[in-house]
Amino acid sequence: MAPMLRLYNTLTRQKAPFAPIDPSHVRMYACGPTVYDAAHIGNARPIIVFDLLFRLLRHLYGPAHVTYARNVTDVDDKINARAAERGITIRALTDGTLKAFHADIRDLGVLMPEDVNVAGARPRLVEPRATDHIAEMVAIIEGLVRAGHAYVAAGHVLFDVPSMPDYGGLSKRPLDEMEAGARVEVAPYKRSALDFVLWKPSKPGEPSWPSPCGLAEPGRPGWHIECSAMSWKHLGQTFDIHAGGIDLIFPHHENEVAQSRCCFGTDVMAHVWLHNGFLQVEGEKMSKSLGNFITIRDVLKDWPGEVARLAMLRTHYRQPIDWTLRGLEEAARTLERWYGIVGDAAPAEAVPVSVLDPLTDDLNTAAALAELHRLDDPAALKAGANLMGLLGQTQSARAQGSIAAAGLDVARIEALIEARRAARAAKDWAASDRVRDELLAMGVAVKDGKDGTTWSVAP
Ligand code: AMP
Ligand code: ZN
Repeated sequence: MAPMLRLYNTLTRQKAPFAPIDPSHVRMYACGPTVYDAAHIGNARPIIVFDLLFRLLRHLYGPAHVTYARNVTDVDDKINARAAERGITIRALTDGTLKAFHADIRDLGVLMPEDVNVAGARPRLVEPRATDHIAEMVAIIEGLVRAGHAYVAAGHVLFDVPSMPDYGGLSKRPLDEMEAGARVEVAPYKRSALDFVLWKPSKPGEPSWPSPCGLAEPGRPGWHIECSAMSWKHLGQTFDIHAGGIDLIFPHHENEVAQSRCCFGTDVMAHVWLHNGFLQVEGEKMSKSLGNFITIRDVLKDWPGEVARLAMLRTHYRQPIDWTLRGLEEAARTLERWYGIVGDAAPAEAVPVSVLDPLTDDLNTAAALAELHRLDDPAALKAGANLMGLLGQTQSARAQGSIAAAGLDVARIEALIEARRAARAAKDWAASDRVRDELLAMGVAVKDGKDGTTWSVAP
């Protein structure tokens, strides 16, 4: 019997025990990035946080019993505009951006399909792309029209919001507030200001597919429909957990719920809705105009991915997070200390309860990290940290990695260490200091201990 997991559910505004629909197959979905440009460090937050949840669910229910779908949005106005600007095809733009995104998140210690999927078995981690699910989108749109929840107008298909009596149940916004928000520039073909686009005609040069509902002109999907289609295809009509950033609650998630529930006639789309808080940089909203816009790659140029991951997990996922240089420096020091304790130890078989407990309390990472700080047993520390996607390397491999990354020539270093030893034996202190300075200039620190001289990559 798995220890109890409690999650805060945006749908009920309460923390409650998590009870999967089918304990032998836990299913979760997270809304991923729109791949038109390098992902920023804010985008890394849901990716890291929900990767941690995936790891925790795998730990609690068994790796073969959890499916995680995290989608990629590869059809969008920003993508069309960027591809046109660069004079490349949309597919070339989205393929290139996705590849860079994968390299980014792999470096952040995020599990990738190739890490967890097993040949011949049901995939455990899928990364569906919107443009590979047009047929499912069309099927849902046609189902909605048949059920009287959508209508065709001026080449568009629109969701008929007033046809759903309990629309708004996730965001719990008063209807008049939503209407006021929507009323800015209401398209004349909408019956209600709240109605939203399921399908629209494509302009020349935009990607297009044969339209549903007998529309003659080719078109493309609206934004929200893709997640209803991808979650249905990979997880079913109703599933356990749906996650994303807090900005997505309205309208994106509200509209996903409307589409899926009205098409399938279900009471809920997902049982539990999780939303991560927003990331800001050094106390300010991150934006290109403020000049504090940081991509994941920018961070990885200066810091190991593991440091960035730890810096992200220091704050509880629902709180806003302030991304600071100080936070990164502290995370780096913490990892240094932990690697020092763990050395090359193998992880203990069991994850320490002191670490698991706070994680099962709505992913209380701050408390779990505090517990890791208290551990001085190498195997226990390694097991607890590994569950959080940290301390994945051995101390030796890490040292080798930094030697390689620093481009150091080990044979040359050892020759210099030997020359320094000889100088010291001859009490030629000036020569010994010269060699040490030469090593330092190469980025190598030497330390003389009772068992002789050791060296490491200078911090
Ligand atoms: P986007 O590409 O903007 O659709 O965002 C992809 C994911 O990143 C979504 O789950 C967003 O909610 C999330 N996200 C975007 N910006 C931030 C931010 N500054 N802090 C935290 N999450 C964010
Ligand atoms: Zn979505």
